[in-house]
Amino acid sequence: MGERDVVVFFDIFKVDKEGPVWRSSADTLDKAKERVQEFGKIEPGEYLIFNSRTGESLRISTENADSMSRAPYYVRCGSPGCKWQIALIDVSESESERLRQSFREHCIEAHALAPDDMEREAWFDLTKHTITLMGK
Ligand SMILES: [Zn+2]
Repeated sequence: MGERDVVVFFDIFKVDKEGPVWRSSADTLDKAKERVQEFGKIEPGEYLIFNSRTGESLRISTENADSMSRAPYYVRCGSPGCKWQIALIDVSESESERLRQSFREHCIEAHALAPDDMEREAWFDLTKHTITLMGK
């Protein structure tokens, strides 16, 4: 089995003024965090770990390593004028599930999503940290 057969779930980006720049990838969140710390020694700053399977991302500042794993990040509703947001601790499966559940409930309440509509997709924007209910 070659390198290319490995399924990569976590992409690592350095956040520059122009936006996230891809740096590396890892097959587990722990490895991705380790790599961010290595990059941070050379180039301190903001990094994003993007879970390519669930679409969630974790923002890490290597200039403030202590608060890194505990600091929540916020995902906001992408619909114009909507103030809904949720704080997530990390990109784990359970947090991803919590995001999707909460957002679904929010959309049923605020955006006229039919409670039995399981087809409609939510678009997670990596750079803006928004989640938006897609049209039919
Ligand atoms: Zn909303």
